Amino acid sequence: MNAKPRIAVHKFSSCDGCQLAFLNLGEDLLALAQRVEIVHFAEAGAVDPEAPVDIAFVEGSISTPDEQTRIQAVRANSRMLVTIGACATSGGLQALRNHADSAEWMARVYAHAEYIETLSTATAIADHVRVDFELWGCPVSSAQMLAAVRALLFGVTPVPEGDKVCLDCKRQHTVCVLVARGEACLGPVTRTGCGALCPRFGRDCYGCYGPSDNPNPDALGARLRGLGLLPQAVARRFRFIHSAQPALADAARRALGEDHD
Ligand code: SF4
Ligand code: SF4
Repeated sequence: MNAKPRIAVHKFSSCDGCQLAFLNLGEDLLALAQRVEIVHFAEAGAVDPEAPVDIAFVEGSISTPDEQTRIQAVRANSRMLVTIGACATSGGLQALRNHADSAEWMARVYAHAEYIETLSTATAIADHVRVDFELWGCPVSSAQMLAAVRALLFGVTPVPEGDKVCLDCKRQHTVCVLVARGEACLGPVTRTGCGALCPRFGRDCYGCYGPSDNPNPDALGARLRGLGLLPQAVARRFRFIHSAQPALADAARRALGEDHD
């Protein structure tokens, strides 16, 4: 690694929210900027997308032909590649198109769909190139991102978080919204990393950090049915932000009785 590691932040199909999580580091970002050279981060002003770097952070899914080509160049120019956020790690909300006829949707939404260059699917970065580390969340947490950067700068592999959000509720003595209020919380199948942000504010988790290690969505689906949700509503919960993740996609199908594995 160079004396001053070079860092890039690349955007693919996304809303920019994870880049904002980077900017929201505030003073920590200024401190970081003294230890690294930020060579490409359009949202922060630096633009040199083809520069070779030590660490490339990638936000967004691969949803267009141009992005298919560009991600190969990013990979070739980067010693390490870290995905940031739901879109980059699993396809995100855009991957909902994978369950539909995208041409039909475009024709319904746009007056002149012929001007739009897009793929019929939205897919995770790891479906296209090797990824060294994934940061989940919609958006990622600034603290998690800083911890990952620190680890990588010290030459240490960051520790992936695989525990469920419920564990953080217990650690923080947060009242369970599923048990106490009958909310359709996805915390029992969702990886933590946010510190149980939503339950701490009295609302249900909607699964933005993706599936945890060893999730049991069928059991949670049965519990949600017990709360009065129709099978379609259970499937919709599982197909929200991480619909491309097999653990949740398969559970959604089973909830609808489309798969009897
Ligand atoms: S509120 Fe949700 S995440 Fe927290 S313990 Fe209950 S089910 Fe789990
Ligand atoms: S509690 Fe769930 S929905 Fe809320 S930020 Fe955490 S993972 Fe995302």
